Amino acid sequence: TYVVIDNCIACKYTDCVEVCPVDCFYEGENMLVIHPDECIDCGVCEPECPADAIRPDTEPEMEQWVEFNRKYSEKW
Ligand code: SF4
Repeated sequence: TYVVIDNCIACKYTDCVEVCPVDCFYEGENMLVIHPDECIDCGVCEPECPADAIRPDTEPEMEQWVEFNRKYSEKW
C-alpha cells in the first residue's frame, strides 16, 4: 500500500485524489490519508504529489503511518 505522511499537512493540492483509480483517498483531520486495504499499489499518485507526501509502505519506518492512514480512512 501507499501511505500519506505529514508532508501533506496544509497542502492545498488534490492531484493525487483525482488520479487514483479506486478512490481510496479520504479526508483526515488536517491531511489526506489512503485506505491501506483499498489501495491497489498502482503508484500513479506518488509523482502527482507536490509535497512528496505519498510514500510506499516499503520505505523504512512506515508502519506507524500505515496505522495512521487506516485510522483516519476508516471513519468514513
Ligand atoms: Fe490510489 Fe494507486 Fe495511489 Fe493506491 S497507489 S492511493 S490505488 S493512486
